[in-house]
Formats: sequence, C-alpha cells, structure tokens
Amino acid sequence: MIKNFAKPIIITQSRITTRLWLLSVNKLTRSWFFLILIFSLCGTGIRAFAGETTLVFGGDVMLGRLMNRAKSPLVWGNLRSVLNGADLTLVNQEFAITSFKKEWGKKAFYFRADPGVTSIFKSAGIDYVSLANNHILDYGPVGLENSLKFLKRADIAHAGAGENETAAREPARLTAGSLNIAVISITDNEPGWRAGEKSPGIFYLPIQPSSVSTIRAISADARKKGASFVILSAHWGGNWVTHPSPTFRQFAHAVIDAGVDLIHGHSGHIVQGIEIYKGKPIFYNMGDVIDDYAVDPAKRNDLAYLARVTLVGEKVVQIEAIPTVIEKFQVNRATGENADWVLESLRKMSAEMGTQVKREGNQLKISLH
Ligand SMILES: [Zn+2]
Repeated sequence: MIKNFAKPIIITQSRITTRLWLLSVNKLTRSWFFLILIFSLCGTGIRAFAGETTLVFGGDVMLGRLMNRAKSPLVWGNLRSVLNGADLTLVNQEFAITSFKKEWGKKAFYFRADPGVTSIFKSAGIDYVSLANNHILDYGPVGLENSLKFLKRADIAHAGAGENETAAREPARLTAGSLNIAVISITDNEPGWRAGEKSPGIFYLPIQPSSVSTIRAISADARKKGASFVILSAHWGGNWVTHPSPTFRQFAHAVIDAGVDLIHGHSGHIVQGIEIYKGKPIFYNMGDVIDDYAVDPAKRNDLAYLARVTLVGEKVVQIEAIPTVIEKFQVNRATGENADWVLESLRKMSAEMGTQVKREGNQLKISLH
C-alpha cells in the first residue's frame, strides 16, 4: 500500500537567504534599499523617455577550443553586468557553432564550440554577432549552416555570412527603443571564403576606395527599409598592427560620408585608437574580449576594452571605454597597471587622431555634445 506523504515544503536557498536578510537588516536600511531600487527602475524609464539608448561593443569573442570545455557564464567575470546593462550588445563571433568536427581547408587554427554556447552568449545579453571573419568557416559550409541555425534558435541577430552572397551581405536589423539599427558585417580576410551567387560564404570586401560604393548601396537600402542608424562591423587589417594605415582611415571616412554612423572594428588582437569623424565614432580595433590564446608579453593581446556608447535619438553623445583583461579563461574589468596600460595607449592613440579623451577613474570618456 502506498502511503500518502505530505507534500514537502521546498524553500530554496535564495528564499532562505532573502528571509534571513530581511530579518537581519533594520527597518531604516530596508527603506533605503527599496528607495534606491525604485530610483534605479525610474532611471531606466527616464532614460527611455528621453530617447537615450546605450550600445555596448566588444571585439573578438572566441569560445572554441579550451573555452569550449569551460562552457560557463563565468567566462564573462565581473563584466557580465556591463554587457547585460546595455540596450544592445554587439561582438564578433570568432568561431563556428557546430558539433561537426571535420576541419575545413588548411589553416593554423580551427575554432569550434558546441551548440550550447548560445546560452553563454545569452548569459551576457549579447544581441548581435558578426560572422564575416576568418573562423566562421573553419568547419566548412556545414559549420556555417549550423552556426546560422543555432543563432536563429537562440534569437541572436547576425550578419556577414550566409547561404549565398545576398544573405551574406544582408544587414542585421535591431531595435532599441525608437532606434532602428542596421548592422553590416564585412571582412577583408579569407577572400577564398567569399559567398557566391549560389554558394555559402562570408561578405568579403577589400579595404579600398572602390568598395565604398557597395557600402553606400547597402546603407541606402537599409535606410529605405526603415533603419535610422547604420553600423559597419569590420573584421579588418593585419594582426598586431598598432595604428590604422592611411588607407584604412580614408576608407573609414569615406564609408561614413557614404551613410555609416559608427564603425565597429576588430581582428588584429590588439587595441587601436578611437577617432571621431564628423561626430561619428570609429573604433579601429577593439582587441579581444575573451579567448584562450597565448599572451604576447609586449603586445598584450590579453588587454582590450568594451565601448559603451550613449545615443540621444540618432546622435552619439558619449563614449566610455572600459578596460578589460583576460586571465585564466575569464575576462574581467582591468585594474591597476593593466588598466593604465590599456587606457594610456588608447588615450594616446586616440589623441593622435584628434580625439579629446578624458580619463575618469578606471575608464576613458569621450563627450560629443
Ligand atoms: Zn579573426
């Protein structure tokens, strides 16, 4: 005979913690806590009402190889709140999402993460990933097809690679409040991976004056379809290059003149300066957000920054550069000498391009009012 057992009362750890906390703090502290909570909630509402939007940009995210073994949201360290705190968070996905393990072509490194990696993206609130780069096809067209499928399933926007040329060139569409954003993703790496009329691949575009008209046409089309802010995400240039060449700077200026509002640059593993051209930001190279790479002690590819961009309507009014450091398969806010290293080199290289940068504590600020 089966006895009827009384239903157990389940009190979770967090509930117990909350109860203990409520009992332990006095009334006055509690009132302050709830007041602060109400004010911070109102703050979000006031920001939205004022038409203010925040976008966070990061460079390369490589969650394959040893990072794939970690499979933990802990990889984001204490930056999880920064990444999650923006209206939209955008990075470059430097790997394929697939269980298919057959490497494609002849390369030095192949980067692949299991499909569950999308939950690691989600844990950081990542809304968009660039796919036009030199690793999305490390596992061939199958790896690309799987990446597209798993990103779609996780509702993560992407651009820069697809089943054919039209799909690879198609910008991602994102909204933040009343702001309609289009993100075009290009790379000047891996010309052999270029998508064809009927074959899958990446949006390959060389950095040269004749490429500007392509960006102009895509940008104009995106605006016709309702975009009010156009981002060009570019996986460009050689590795370990500290300063953008005149060709890159001319290209950046020309695409802004052709309708782009912000350039999100990445690829070379190290940080380059920030330029403001006609009120529009150019992040030439943001470095690497997270990876398992060996660190060059002189070039410091473990140090980079996240850019928090504040807009009022379609106008960028402020940029904050938050220094980051990768250590033991985790990224955290850089402090002490590491922060000085990133912020000083970023300040200096940006100033060389005429950008007025102010250091405020552990970050840099650029005001565009
Ligand atoms: Zn790359």
